[in-house]
Amino acid sequence: MRINPDKKFGTRECPSCAVEVEANHNRCPVCGYDFPQPGPTRKWLWPAVAALLLLALLAWLV
Ligand SMILES: [Zn+2]
Repeated sequence: MRINPDKKFGTRECPSCAVEVEANHNRCPVCGYDFPQPGPTRKWLWPAVAALLLLALLAWLV
């Protein structure tokens, strides 16, 4: 891991081509590597799926 004195807050190194990519970029502009998203976009997914399944089940029962 390199130490860059000019390193701005919120950059990360592309594991594919080792270029510095801004943290708000989801994809490396050089090689197109997709960074895994631990973010909030998926946190609601399973509750939403569970709610939809529950609604479907209720609609099927009634
Ligand atoms: Zn890259």
